[in-house]
Amino acid sequence: MLEQIEPAPADAILGLTAAFNSDPRSEKVNLSVGVYKDEHGKTPILDCVRTAATELAAEAATKSYLPIPGLVEYREAVCDLLFGSGHEVIEGKRIASAQTPGGTGALRVAGEFIKANLPGATLWHSDPTWPNHPNVFNACGLPLKKYPYFDSQNDRLDYEGMLAALKKIPAGDVVLLHGCCHNPTGVDPTGQQWTEIASVLRERGVLPLLDFAYQGFADGIEEDAAGLRAFSTEGAELMVCSSFSKNFSLYRERVGALAIVGKTAESASALQTQLNAVIRRLYSNPPAHGAEIVNKVLRSATLREQWIADVAAMRRRINNMRQGFVDGLAEAGVPGDFSFITQQRGMFSFSGLSKEQVESLRDEHAVYIVGSGRINVAGLTPTNLKYVAEAIGDVVG
Ligand code: PLP
Repeated sequence: MLEQIEPAPADAILGLTAAFNSDPRSEKVNLSVGVYKDEHGKTPILDCVRTAATELAAEAATKSYLPIPGLVEYREAVCDLLFGSGHEVIEGKRIASAQTPGGTGALRVAGEFIKANLPGATLWHSDPTWPNHPNVFNACGLPLKKYPYFDSQNDRLDYEGMLAALKKIPAGDVVLLHGCCHNPTGVDPTGQQWTEIASVLRERGVLPLLDFAYQGFADGIEEDAAGLRAFSTEGAELMVCSSFSKNFSLYRERVGALAIVGKTAESASALQTQLNAVIRRLYSNPPAHGAEIVNKVLRSATLREQWIADVAAMRRRINNMRQGFVDGLAEAGVPGDFSFITQQRGMFSFSGLSKEQVESLRDEHAVYIVGSGRINVAGLTPTNLKYVAEAIGDVVG
């Protein structure tokens, strides 16, 4: 019975890391998976996380189950971070929330919630988007459609195309947006554009679902929430999936959250019961450790300050590498204007390299990037930058 099952296709991104790991070439560089690396090519544990984990180990009193939606204190701390402490959606008790296993867990819970509670809703996602978005939402049985997002001729947001498409989405559908640091393009709407997008969706009666996996990686922890807050107006409804994988470097601990903002406090109470019902049948209740760490850091003045400085350092290093990459490409004699790379935000850059060039980079130079041409800028270091730029020069030349 089981013998007839064929192997599944390799994951578009994680499959590349498996190939990278088994590549024997010593000069190999992995710029595929979205993991931050420091200037030595390492992904270290943040000091604030290590301190919090040590304190937690000493304090631990039980390993009994958490409640279905997770730790209350963590959920409150996350909502403060997302919406800003004292925001009307918090004070008005308009949020149903859950601690989830990473941002992916939040997306899956959101998808299952939509499928169960908004029958017939289609989910619209940007073209392009993170390849796991369609995987997750297809698995929930949601119909998917795309809206235009990227103007590849000019390496910028196709704002006009996007807005025109959003204006045609039927009431009752859901629109998935990347809260900041759009993956894979690195191109985000401006503050003014966010406000306009939010009002278009609200007027149409379309529910926004924000995927917010990179808070702090674009312009700052508070600054990056500007888009999300443009949607959080009086009486507005929205869903937010967030993740601490990147900004706390807690990838393997699987720490995320889903916040659903209802029109009223009464509505939020009902939403919370439906959210709990979805989680109960998916994984019953979340793992504790990562969320306990985040909660401790966010609630300690000293640790929180360290964390804010850590995120700023990661952001600065990525932006320095963006500039270094543009300079490196020029020095390697790669034709064309790559200055757009310094305008993009977050870990990723859409390089414009073709599928064939991406393959040559891998086969001839052991430089691994995603087939779409997406480069993880956070994987560049002062040591590998010149090698990568020259390899690109070779494949495009
Ligand atoms: N959403 C986007 C756009 C991402 O890029 C990622 C991770 O790469 C996630 C969600 C999920 O992150 P997590 O590792 O917390 O599941």
